[in-house]
Amino acid sequence: NDEDSIRKGISPQGVLEHVFGYEHFRGLQQQAIDFVMQGQDVLLLMPTGGGKSICYQIPSLCRAGMGLIISPLIALMNDQVAALRQLGINAGALHSELEPQEATTIRQDMLSGSLDMLYISPERLLSDEMLRFLKKIPLSLIAIDEAHCVSVWGHDFRPEYRLMTNLSKEFPGVPRIALTATADPTTKQDIIVSLGMPDVQILQASFHRTNLFIRAIPKEGETKQLLTILQKHSEEACIIYCGSRNKAERIAAMLVDRGFTALAYHAGLSALEKRTVLLRFRSGEPVIIVATIAFGMGIDRPDVRLVVHLDMPKGPEHYYQQIGRAGRDGDPAETVLLYGGEDIVKARYWLEQSNSNEEQKRIARSRLNTMIAFAETTDCRTQILLRCFGEELQEPCGHCDNCKYPVSLFNGTVAAQKVLSAVYRTGQRFGAIHIINVLRGKKSDHIDNYQHDQLPVFGIGKDKPNQFWRAVIRQLMAKDALRQGAEHSNLFLNQDKALPLLKGNEQLYLREDIVQVRSEKTHAYP
Ligand code: ADP
Ligand code: ZN
Repeated sequence: NDEDSIRKGISPQGVLEHVFGYEHFRGLQQQAIDFVMQGQDVLLLMPTGGGKSICYQIPSLCRAGMGLIISPLIALMNDQVAALRQLGINAGALHSELEPQEATTIRQDMLSGSLDMLYISPERLLSDEMLRFLKKIPLSLIAIDEAHCVSVWGHDFRPEYRLMTNLSKEFPGVPRIALTATADPTTKQDIIVSLGMPDVQILQASFHRTNLFIRAIPKEGETKQLLTILQKHSEEACIIYCGSRNKAERIAAMLVDRGFTALAYHAGLSALEKRTVLLRFRSGEPVIIVATIAFGMGIDRPDVRLVVHLDMPKGPEHYYQQIGRAGRDGDPAETVLLYGGEDIVKARYWLEQSNSNEEQKRIARSRLNTMIAFAETTDCRTQILLRCFGEELQEPCGHCDNCKYPVSLFNGTVAAQKVLSAVYRTGQRFGAIHIINVLRGKKSDHIDNYQHDQLPVFGIGKDKPNQFWRAVIRQLMAKDALRQGAEHSNLFLNQDKALPLLKGNEQLYLREDIVQVRSEKTHAYP
């Protein structure tokens, strides 16, 4: 047909202008397309919204043959196909929710050479019958979307992706382009090895999102803090991430009670319920989605103005992807991580309890520790995050809390020693509240019963408020010098980390803002 002959003959630049209606390539698009046009394999790492799609769509149209795109989610495929058809491109998707009639049409178009692009899930692609069928079709390229799904260490592992190692043997000579918004070095390496692309051209865009204000604050009453944050975002789209389904439900109900439009989203919802929530989210109405990690891939709403984390994300990859859902339109957006010592300890506990192997635990541990360090840091948060993705930001970002409101530190070693002694002297059997009562010399039934007012540590922390001691305990937990029993929440020492502090061989620096002028500061943020 006419359009076809036009496209196959013209340059990527021509297709960009005349089919997609854009004037210029952005960032790495041109380079990625050039490599694929030359028949080379490419790994393209770009943040969500960076414009990855046309990097395979344009070469699909400009090279002879059909573009084959492997994609993990039906919703994602359908969106793409609909958008391409609007542009007059003959695209189709083969997946389990397709009417048999449609599937037949798509197959006929493939055989006649009129289908420009086929979206397919990995499990469908790898069935013997489909492989045999596809080998009859000339291919312009194979695109592997959301390529991080191939990595066991990645945050969204899909076993089907693992089976794609043989693609180069099944379709020799067809260039492959793997695309992802996850760029930590381990996952990157895993993609290259798993997909068998030894001579791959790696193109990595900057992950720096200058319109995101990044903030992390310690929990001092989660609900109250959340409500304060939400005040500035009424009539706006917001996402609140929670660590569990229960909590997502609970927080959503609490917000609805207070007159907010809030909807819970998690993997426990039925397909219909999920679709309803997604429809409302996409409709453009101001709505708060209270979600678990299940609210993820393919979520595309440009005007999300706030992303809050009420629990510690598993690692920087998750975290960065989730906050990246704010401000896709480029306008300012805010992100807040609320973190607490107990959450950290809980996360560590679940990690140790999980039945993953030692290697997986080691990696999970290091991810979590990176998140903790990120939460507690006094340095530029953007610099720390980008470093996780192998990117070095030369100057502090200027759009995180630490850049905007520099924190001063004070030497908290003596305070730490007081806490550790109080924990030790009381037999490592009590929780934070009791320890703080001991330090502050506050009488209580417990104190009387155990005669803790007789201990030398009783009252040694009278001069500081509750809040101060809570902050010290949290930092000690973050440093893993203090641990907490999962059943009774009792604090106990981790000797390896606690002894150097107790002996004075190591110093502990604390953030001054957290322990003193915290509440004023909270209101001072924009
Ligand atoms: P990603 O897959 O990386 O998340 P998309 O491919 O969905 O990003 O592109 C994000 C948005 O940017 C889309 O709305 C797309 O139409 C737009 N876009 C992509 N490339 C260009 C370009 N060169 N010029 C203008 N807009 C573009
Ligand atoms: Zn910064």
